[in-house]
Amino acid sequence: MTTIVSPSGTAALFADLAVRVETDAPLAAHTWFGIGGRADVLVHPMDDASLATLLRRCHQGGIPVRVLGSGANLLVSDEGVDGVVVKLDEPAFREVKANAVGSLEALRAGAGADLAKLVNDCARRGLDGLSPMAGIPASVGGAIRMNAGGRFGSIGDAVHAVALLEPDGSLKVFPAGEIRFGYRETSLPAGVVLWASFALREEDPLKVRERVKEIFSHKKSTQPLAEHSAGCVFRNPRKVGAEGAASNAGHGDTTGERESAGRLIDLAGLKGRSIGGARVSDRHGNFVTVAPGTRTADVEALIRLIRERVRETSGIELDTEVVIWRRGEA
Ligand SMILES: Cc1cc2nc3c(=O)[nH]c(=O)nc-3n(C[C@H](O)[C@H](O)[C@H](O)COP(=O)(O)OP(=O)(O)OC[C@H]3O[C@@H](n4cnc5c(N)ncnc54)[C@H](O)[C@@H]3O)c2cc1C
Repeated sequence: MTTIVSPSGTAALFADLAVRVETDAPLAAHTWFGIGGRADVLVHPMDDASLATLLRRCHQGGIPVRVLGSGANLLVSDEGVDGVVVKLDEPAFREVKANAVGSLEALRAGAGADLAKLVNDCARRGLDGLSPMAGIPASVGGAIRMNAGGRFGSIGDAVHAVALLEPDGSLKVFPAGEIRFGYRETSLPAGVVLWASFALREEDPLKVRERVKEIFSHKKSTQPLAEHSAGCVFRNPRKVGAEGAASNAGHGDTTGERESAGRLIDLAGLKGRSIGGARVSDRHGNFVTVAPGTRTADVEALIRLIRERVRETSGIELDTEVVIWRRGEA
């Protein structure tokens, strides 16, 4: 049930909480595409308790809540979004604690922590396990929700436990064994990831740094990392006959059970195709890049065109990997 509450009415719901509230807040600068509309209400909680209360009140009031990570897999509609957008960018949510569960190799990171920084910190400390995340822009929470990764591995491979606040504000901690990490998805229920702990291996810091550098160089040579995008727009589709295959091929390894969506887009002759300021990257067919000032409607039109052409040329239906936020659809 969605209750219609004015943005100022919604903001007033949190007046007694330790949160920073912005109304009619532009979201473009919070996303890697750098485009899109505004949030009716953008809330930055200061601590877990305020976040839990906020979630509970929204749940009781039928107010939709969306969580914004680093916006690297997000396309916000030109009309913006209703309800409440929560951003975990205050220090309490960005904390990283080593040895948090009493073991030298364990490390616990708040959902708002920057993944790239975490990867580099681990390399400096001589801890390996998160190196496959090199070059993937994300917050820890967003990376967990998406099971971010690639040909070198996925974040789920290193997870020890995940803490999540459910929509009614209650806290659940899931040991890794209770979570299924699939290809760009997890079995975690709806809610806000609060933190994740990782089981890492001690390793020579120079070796870890070398591995991070190699993986980053590989990404840089194959993806347009300097341009505005949200990474791969489409999920790599399953190869025909691979339906029954094991599904923690979380890596999206296209030599295994999945085809490369980028290759299908290339075969459809779409590399370089543009609508308005949105363009299929020449470097990687599955990346749509945007020029400053591009309308989200143009990106969405290009996404539709790609799906149609790939359907015509290969008979395959592409599903989007990028998360699209539209008013009224939370
Ligand atoms: C240049 C570039 C390269 C990329 N390369 C890769 C790659 O190699 N592999 C890959 O997997 N991805 C890649 N991506 C996509 C992106 O990095 C990942 O999907 C990443 O996990 C997004 O994290 P985020 O924090 O930015 O999440 P957002 O984009 O902010 O959000 C994504 C989803 O996660 C949810 N979410 C965010 N935080 C939380 C939280 N705390 N609790 C619950 N839900 C949350 C959001 O509500 C949304 O549904 C790339 C993106 C770019 C721009």
